[in-house]
Amino acid sequence: MSLLPRCLYCEATTGELVAVALVASGSGPGWTYQACRTCRISERLVPLVAHPSDSWGGMHYWPDIVPHELVVRLAGLRSASELRPVVDRLFPAVAAVFRREIAQSAVEDAVADLWAAVPVEES
Ligand SMILES: [Zn+2]
Repeated sequence: MSLLPRCLYCEATTGELVAVALVASGSGPGWTYQACRTCRISERLVPLVAHPSDSWGGMHYWPDIVPHELVVRLAGLRSASELRPVVDRLFPAVAAVFRREIAQSAVEDAVADLWAAVPVEES
């Protein structure tokens, strides 16, 4: 592995490389995966310094609710670490909305199954 930092996606060695994930290492401190600004935008990558507090260093992606124009603006921020408190609110809230949508879908499926379990009324 080269010591020269390069983008994980396009292998560029320039272009505002930023750490986006932590690679666990069995021995030693491990290292980081870097991504250039273009790839952080196209892959919707959250910079490592802005990962949620409970992150183990794996890749994090801006949720779909974050529009592309905002992802572009966020990728240009100089101090992304200031985003962490917002990310700490955003990620659990997005997960809660997703769980609610799953629950709503399960409720609708169950009601449909109840309707299917009863005979059609003669009119
Ligand atoms: Zn790249």
